[in-house]
Amino acid sequence: MQIQVLPLPEEKMKAKFSDESQLGFGKLFTDRMFIAEWKAGQGWVDARIQPYAPFSLDPACLVLHYAQEIFEGLKAYKWQDGSIALFRPEMNARRFNHSADRMCMPEVPEELFLDGIRELVRLERDWIPSSPGTSLYIRPTMIAVEPILGVKPSDHYYFYVILSPVGAYYASGFNPVKIMVEDKYVRAVKGGTGEAKTGGNYASSLKAGLDAKKKGFDQVLWLDGLERRYIEEVGAMNMFFAYGNKVVTAPLDGTILNGITRNTVISIAEKLGFTVEERKISIDTIMADIKSGKISEAFGSGTAAVITPVGALCYKDETAGIGDRGVGTLTQKLYDTITGIQTGQIPDSFGWVNKL
Ligand SMILES: *Cc1c(COP(=O)(O)O)cnc(C)c1O
Repeated sequence: MQIQVLPLPEEKMKAKFSDESQLGFGKLFTDRMFIAEWKAGQGWVDARIQPYAPFSLDPACLVLHYAQEIFEGLKAYKWQDGSIALFRPEMNARRFNHSADRMCMPEVPEELFLDGIRELVRLERDWIPSSPGTSLYIRPTMIAVEPILGVKPSDHYYFYVILSPVGAYYASGFNPVKIMVEDKYVRAVKGGTGEAKTGGNYASSLKAGLDAKKKGFDQVLWLDGLERRYIEEVGAMNMFFAYGNKVVTAPLDGTILNGITRNTVISIAEKLGFTVEERKISIDTIMADIKSGKISEAFGSGTAAVITPVGALCYKDETAGIGDRGVGTLTQKLYDTITGIQTGQIPDSFGWVNKL
């Protein structure tokens, strides 16, 4: 499909950041956005890149009432030679369509998804920061915009992409986080929407996150929705536990997000000679194995922070420090390897890098 590029008037151009260390995450957006519309009977129409601007939405439109919405998250990196790279964007395209299917939304052709992103990033390249750890965060989103209060799939959607220059996640050092294991609220159940990247999953997780913050923890580790016994995932990260030369993570059984960083971690760990087990593991076993020292490291994986070292877990008011509460050697190695490949400092033997 042809992507129309609309002019960007001078007065719509924003002032660029002057200090990359002040960027933070998702607070600043670039000058342009990509948008395409899907209409029943017509399919995808009117793909265009236009000045970044608010939408005018009918107050009755479906996304505002019944949360028919999906999104993705990936990054563009500016390499030292000035070239630009995406990391495994076709995986985001496939997952987006998996989420779309679950939420009864139309599939976005992979080519439209990727061309829209690539063309937009190319036009907005001056917005990509270049100091270590920074990147351009890419947020593809689809919303249901038909104005009707009857509960049904929409007959009109916007698929759009916005861009946000983001700062180094670990500006103040690669610091281990403290995580609270949630034993009251649940995030997902089998048959639910846990596997879809959809806004409602986040809305329903806010309460637990707030409670954890009040108690002095950074994030929540979810347990399975049925028995509240098996490890699932953390906020917007998949979770890994290292036992010496073995790494354990929850299986993709429909309740957790199929993380692209999770998949990347598994491939690299296996290449480093680790055995990776995707299996159910109970929180009681985890707590016992942390206390006995069998678990040597724990970390989360996700696009925003890449790898997050976990220093301690708290379950039913008992806190257990992991290892020496520092950053484990595998955790550090994975972080260095993945960010090295993403930024062109380490050769990509996996075929993950997608240059613009
Ligand atoms: C996006 C997300 C992740 C991480 O996925 P990545 O592809 O690695 O960024 C993990 N859990 C949830 C709930 C998510 O929404």
